Amino acid sequence: MKGTFPIDKFQSLHTPFYYYDTQLLRDTLDVIKTEAGRAGNYAVHYAVKANANPKVLSIIRESGLGADCVSGGEIRAAIKAGFPAGKIVFAGVGKADWEINLALEHDIFCFNVESIPELEVINQLAAAQGKTARVAFRINPNVGAHTHANITTGLAENKFGIRMDDMEQVIDIAQSLKHVEFIGLHFHIGSQILDMGDFVALCNRVNELQERLEARQLRVPYINVGGGLGIDYAHPNRQPIPDFQAYFSTYRTHLKLRPYQTLHFELGRAVVGQCGSLISRVLYVKQGVNKQFAILDAGMTDLIRPALYQAYHKIENLSSERPVQAYDVVGPVCESSDVFGKAVDLNGVQRGDFVALRSAGAYGEIMASAYNCRELPKGYTSDELC
Ligand SMILES: *Cc1c(COP(=O)(O)O)cnc(C)c1O
Repeated sequence: MKGTFPIDKFQSLHTPFYYYDTQLLRDTLDVIKTEAGRAGNYAVHYAVKANANPKVLSIIRESGLGADCVSGGEIRAAIKAGFPAGKIVFAGVGKADWEINLALEHDIFCFNVESIPELEVINQLAAAQGKTARVAFRINPNVGAHTHANITTGLAENKFGIRMDDMEQVIDIAQSLKHVEFIGLHFHIGSQILDMGDFVALCNRVNELQERLEARQLRVPYINVGGGLGIDYAHPNRQPIPDFQAYFSTYRTHLKLRPYQTLHFELGRAVVGQCGSLISRVLYVKQGVNKQFAILDAGMTDLIRPALYQAYHKIENLSSERPVQAYDVVGPVCESSDVFGKAVDLNGVQRGDFVALRSAGAYGEIMASAYNCRELPKGYTSDELC
C-alpha cells in the first residue's frame, strides 16, 4: 500500500521538496490532546528542533502545545509562530550569553539547566536585567534507551545533564543565588524509543529522585520527562499516528506525580514525523554490476538521516504501477554515503518518476544543508496545494 499524494499538483513544482499532510498533522495533534488530557495535569511542548517550518509550527501552535527550544534561533522561530513565551522552555548544554539574554527578555517559562557554570551565568545575566529566571535541572538519569547509539542521551557517559549524585549540591547552589528560582527537574533519555519499558525505567528514576527532594522538604511544581517517543518508519500507512495512548498511560501508571505538580513532555518526532515526505524525481536509472541504481534529484543534503544514523525511510515510486524491481536508491551528492536505501523494491522506475521518501517530517527539512552549493529544499503543505 502506498500513501496518497496530489501528484497532479506536484507536476509544476521544482523537486526535491518536502510535502506535509496537514490533515494527518492535525489528527495527530488531536490524539495528543485527548490522550495527554486524560491526566488533567499534563502539559505538552513541541520540540522545535524536529521541524521549524513556519507553516508546520503555526498549526502546532494553534493546537495549544507549548514549545521546547534548544537555541536562540528556535526561541525566535517559536515566538514568531505565536507560541506564548509562558509556554516556552529552553534546554541545551551550551547556551550562549545572547541566547540566555533573549530568553530572559521574553520571560520564557523555564530554563532547563545542564551544568553549574551555566546556572551561574544565568544568575548573572538575570541580575543584569533585574529579573529572576525560573530554572529546572536536567538530570542525567543513567537510563539507557533501546535506540540508535547516536540518539541515546540519558546514559552517564553522554554530555547531557547533571549527574544524579550532584543533584542536591546543585539545588543548594541554586537556592543560594538571588536571581534564579529552582522550580523542578528535567529529563530526556533519547529518541525513537518504541519500548515503553524505557519510559518505565525513567519513571522509576524520577520517583526515586522525588523522594530525595521530599527528604529535604522540597516541593517543586515542575517535572519534565522530555520526549523520545518513536514512530513506525517501516509502516507509515499502517501506523500514521504513534501510540500516544500507550505512551501517556505508561506515565500515568508509573510516575508518582504529586498533586501540586504538572508533568511536562517535549515531543518532537512523534508529532511531525509521519506527516512529512521528501518528494523527488528520478534523474537516471543506471545499470551496475549485479544491481541497478535509481539516481534521484534529492540527496543527503535534503535528508541526512540515512547517511548520519543509517536510518530507514520507506521509499515509494508514486508514478508507476510497473512490476517491482530492486534498486539502490541514491542521491547526486559527491559522497559514498549519499544512499537512501539498498536493494529497495520499487515499481519499475523511469526517468521523471516521482519518488516519496516517507516519514521524513522530523529531522528532515530542518537538517538540510547547502553542501555542494545545493539549494535548500522548500516545504509545501497539503493546505496550500489542494
Ligand atoms: C530532541 C529533544 C527532544 C525531542 O526528542 P524527540 O525524540 O524528537 O521526541 C525533547 N527534549 C530535548 C531536551 C531534546 O533535546
